[in-house]
Amino acid sequence: MTMSQLEKYQMYIGGKWVDPLSVAWLESDNPYDGKPWALIPRGNEEDANRAVAAAKAAYTSGDWPGMNATSRGALLRRLGDLVARDAERLAAVEVRDNGKLINEMSVQLKYVPQWYYYFGGLADKVEGAVIPTDKANMFNYTRHEPLGVVVAITAWNSPLLLTAYKLAPALAAGNTVVLKPSEYTSASALEFAKLVEEAGFPPGVVNVATGYGREVGEALISHPDVAKVAFTGGSATGKHIYETAASGLKRVTLELGGKSPNIVFEDADLEDAVKGAISGIFAATGQTCVAGSRLLLHERVHDEFVDRLLETAKTARMGDPMDVETQVGPVTTPPQYEKVLNYIDIAKDEGATCVLGGHAAQRPECGDGWFVEPTIFDDVTNDMRIAQEEVFGPVLSVIRFGDEEEAVEIANDVMYGLAAGVWTQNVRRAITMADRLQAGTVWVNTYRAISFMSPFGGYKMSGLGRENGADAIREYLQTKSVWISTASEVPNPFVLR
Ligand code: NAP
Repeated sequence: MTMSQLEKYQMYIGGKWVDPLSVAWLESDNPYDGKPWALIPRGNEEDANRAVAAAKAAYTSGDWPGMNATSRGALLRRLGDLVARDAERLAAVEVRDNGKLINEMSVQLKYVPQWYYYFGGLADKVEGAVIPTDKANMFNYTRHEPLGVVVAITAWNSPLLLTAYKLAPALAAGNTVVLKPSEYTSASALEFAKLVEEAGFPPGVVNVATGYGREVGEALISHPDVAKVAFTGGSATGKHIYETAASGLKRVTLELGGKSPNIVFEDADLEDAVKGAISGIFAATGQTCVAGSRLLLHERVHDEFVDRLLETAKTARMGDPMDVETQVGPVTTPPQYEKVLNYIDIAKDEGATCVLGGHAAQRPECGDGWFVEPTIFDDVTNDMRIAQEEVFGPVLSVIRFGDEEEAVEIANDVMYGLAAGVWTQNVRRAITMADRLQAGTVWVNTYRAISFMSPFGGYKMSGLGRENGADAIREYLQTKSVWISTASEVPNPFVLR
């Protein structure tokens, strides 16, 4: 494809479609064939400034601040309907950008509207309280008010799902938003902005500024008119965002990386647990923050489990992510592809035993894409880098344990705490493990279940704050306390009331 044949996008700022002020575009590549298919505006600091200015103007004047919460909710539900209408098309755009399976992305995109329905429904149910204070002749009540301009920054693995986690509660609460998607997967955010426009949101309520994180992203997070940064991405970027936000006293929500343990006890239903292990690591080619990348196996079932796992993993079909029969797609970006292969070398050097894969895929069905063979390392110990660091690819580390106590110790002995899986038929064990695991989400006899209704977020270095669930809207609100005197005269002004 020549440059002129590529789909050329504009940014969406203040309700208008605009070229970047840099007059520069980035190529967006298809991970399946390694070829560019679209041109994404390379926004710069000036673009960030005008996006924040548009969001600030929409927050302070025009139709949005005067709109009641019920009407805001109706707009969100209309947006949900439009995403539902276009789910297949948006899923295909995301597959072209991030190479994840059409099966996965089409299920995701059909589910995304639920966030707009749920938080749209919550918009007019944010209630303050009347406080029965200890003061005589005083009426005191609280209001929950929006924060102002929210910057939402997303990772490349599930672009519009991660967008919904942030935009739905932020808009329901009455904020305005500047969305900065990953440079690798910006097309779906720009397609989504067309639906925002069609839904009838006032100009500037939602803006999409694309480009590099270190350029447009950095300018957004450090902008003085931004009240909050809602971020999904790696822990190193998350720390940087937290530090930058601190100097402007901005609020943050951080959804970061993980090294989640998937723990199989000797009393588990092994057939189900094998499916759980596969879904934990090879679904989405391991490019999911909740990847069950450490498989903890009880020593009594270790050998049988590894045999069964290999039997299933060996037959995983790789290839075109748009083919519904494909089970493992490419890695999304060239740097990520190099990173995954590098971790495979590290694991080999550390003495882990590679029992499956362990190299780039060179199958005819993988073409020129960035494919890595599903890889399993056995005999991993928890102090190895392959057990401690997030790979974000189809690489599984198998670690043995002897009893519950040791399983808990190994599971918690990482800097992350995003998710954990437990496979057991024993109810006491299921509940105690759920209590003792340091993770924001624990799954028992299942893996990778999420819902717009259920809180999601990390312990330790996996993040701050929670997305999803009714409380998520609180992350986008601030509380005001209003005092009204009902006394007939103002008392002594020199004494605290
Ligand atoms: P990343 O490199 O941290 O980037 C995330 C986003 O931050 C991108 O949009 C990036 O833009 C932007 N960014 C980078 N530097 C920035 C800066 N200085 N200022 C503002 N924005 C900046 O992460 P990724 O590689 O895209 O995603 C993979 C990571 O996301 C993994 O660690 C994964 O675990 C995590 N993740 C977490 C969750 C969760 O919910 N906990 C969900 C999904 C993924 P550019 O693309 O332009 O660099």
